[in-house]
This record gives sequence, C-alpha cells and structure tokens, in this order.
Amino acid sequence: MVQELNVLTEWIPEQMEPGTVFVLENAGHVGNNDDPYWAVLACPECGTLGLITRRQISGLLPVICGSDQCSAQFFIRDNDVKVRKPS
Ligand SMILES: [Zn+2]
Repeated sequence: MVQELNVLTEWIPEQMEPGTVFVLENAGHVGNNDDPYWAVLACPECGTLGLITRRQISGLLPVICGSDQCSAQFFIRDNDVKVRKPS
C-alpha cells in the first residue's frame, strides 16, 4: 500500500494512481450537509476510485475501499495513510 498521498490540483484521470487525491471543485456542496463529499481518492492499495468526505479527509472517519477485491481500511493523517488495524 502507498503510504503517502499525492494531491492533484487538476483532474487528470491518467494520473490517478494509487494514493492520489483530487479535491472536488464543488467540495463541501455535494452529499450530506453534515459531512459532504470532498475529494476523489484512488485507493492506496488497489487504485479504485472513490469519493471521500470531509470527515474522512480530515482523519475523523476511516476510509474503506469500495472494491470487492480489496479490503483496505485506513485513516488519512495530513498526507499520510495510516492503516487501520483490524480489531
Ligand atoms: Zn482498494
């Protein structure tokens, strides 16, 4: 798994390698008012793209990969990926 996130400032799909984050242009305005969508993240393990929320990018909630083939669970701390230990 990639340990460090790479933040893209422009949406370039070919560059969405595992661990890449792209902050949405309308971050904070879509999804749940309480915890809106904030960015697109390519799973640091498998590269599957998924939307993450403000609480996930600020490290308050874990990110769980949406792929059936991948069980990655992790927290985002600053730009680092902290694997969530299975409980
Ligand atoms: Zn994954």
